[in-house]
Amino acid sequence: MTTLFISDLHLDAERPQTTALFGQFLRSEARGADALYILGDLFEAWVGDDDPSETGAYVAAELRALADSGVPVSFIRGNRDFLLGDDYARRAGMRILPDPAVVVLYGQPTLIQHGDLLCTDDVAYQQFRAQTRDPAWQAQFLAQPLAARLAFAQQARAASKAHQSGLRDAGTMETITDVSPATVDSVFARYGLVRMIHGHTHRPAVHELDVAGSARQRVVLGDWYDQGSVLRVNRDGLQLQALS
Ligand code: MN
Repeated sequence: MTTLFISDLHLDAERPQTTALFGQFLRSEARGADALYILGDLFEAWVGDDDPSETGAYVAAELRALADSGVPVSFIRGNRDFLLGDDYARRAGMRILPDPAVVVLYGQPTLIQHGDLLCTDDVAYQQFRAQTRDPAWQAQFLAQPLAARLAFAQQARAASKAHQSGLRDAGTMETITDVSPATVDSVFARYGLVRMIHGHTHRPAVHELDVAGSARQRVVLGDWYDQGSVLRVNRDGLQLQALS
């Protein structure tokens, strides 16, 4: 049997083919899995569980059908859908895990997270993250009318694009938007684990690392922009593959 990991689908109304591919994945391969983990950025944006978006409703129904078929679904919030709440999780039949979390997969303790916490070189982003994860900020934001929240999300996306193009112009895009190797080492040391799985950077890979003489593995999930991406973990190891 196999445990499946996905992240960074960035679902929204503008890319219906990705939403359809996800629905197909949930109705086929996922039905035979031991469990499904979604490590953040399932949605391109999330301004509150009361947003009546068609994509959100469709995804909740499909996830709920999978959960009802007996496959546990877990979700870690990403930097785009960090406001996804208990209400939506209940509708979708999934449980929300903290970021990071430790899960034991076929005997192997594994750290799972969205991945943005590892990108510590992006100081401006980490400040934005700290601000928007503050419960007081979130309560105030969610108290605004839906239209105002949607406008804010659009602004935040434009600001994020401008921030990234600034990094590109400065030639620091590659390093700043990737994980900090020193932070990765310190996280491995803090948790005392040999394997971590995350998304966020859209740089799918299985990194075999040597940290102070011992083997470590860092698995990075791929995004779902041009195709899907899934990590399959079983008793014998793991396999990261594109999905189309
Ligand atoms: Mn992300």
